[in-house]
Amino acid sequence: MKEKNIFKMDYYKTYYFSNICNEIIENPLNYIRHLDEFWGNGQISYLLNSFQKYSVLHHFIEHVIDRLFCESNNNYFPKLNIEELQNHKFWINDTLNYHDIKHPSFNDWYSSEPLSEDLIFEYLEFIEYSDFYLDLKEQMIEETFFILFMNRNFLRKFNLNISGIFRMLENDECNNDATYLLNDKGKLLRKNIPSWAKKAVFFRDRGTCTYCKKDLSGLINISNNYHIDHIIPLAKYGFNDISNLQLLCEFCNTSKGSRHTNVSNEYEKWY
Ligand SMILES: [Zn+2]
Repeated sequence: MKEKNIFKMDYYKTYYFSNICNEIIENPLNYIRHLDEFWGNGQISYLLNSFQKYSVLHHFIEHVIDRLFCESNNNYFPKLNIEELQNHKFWINDTLNYHDIKHPSFNDWYSSEPLSEDLIFEYLEFIEYSDFYLDLKEQMIEETFFILFMNRNFLRKFNLNISGIFRMLENDECNNDATYLLNDKGKLLRKNIPSWAKKAVFFRDRGTCTYCKKDLSGLINISNNYHIDHIIPLAKYGFNDISNLQLLCEFCNTSKGSRHTNVSNEYEKWY
């Protein structure tokens, strides 16, 4: 029987998607319109809920994939004429095929209607709103999350970016449903970190303090307590999101204070 937390990595362009997410976060000014569509105009307030398994990072990856899908569709016109389009395998077809998601090709889908560019748009729209596309996105988001979640430096920049937008939000711009999540300074209230999130961070950081590398597993030294730290502190408009967590020992956590946003870029080699 398959364990429920086991999933298949197809690695189909996973690094490409991860790299685009990273590129956007590294150079936010070049992608300002892109980012604005995602969390501009108060939309970020929908992401303030505490510790959702479908994290803020999942939402971001989904947004990036949707945008790439739209852009790749627009690229076909008017470069290809209608006959070429008819036999063309779109990016989405290749991707669905790679992941073994059965779906109708354009030729399967259209019947005897006269061919037109509109029909191809309709087909791509049909795919966009189909369950095939939802299944595909779920797979791609999970794979991309798997890669990016390992990269604490990326997570820090990602969370700095969101916290910067959150800081600029006036309280009244926040969705009313979210105001109960905020303190009187408009920052997020501290919430209990659910055990699934603690476990994930503990295993990702291999049960060691990410700063001083002290063992926190209780196997080598039973007196070392572990702390799950907010990379961007709540006091600096950090989020209660799994992408904003790291493992620290008690000493490093208490000496970090509430102003710093440091992450360690040191990792233990596999061997
Ligand atoms: Zn430490």
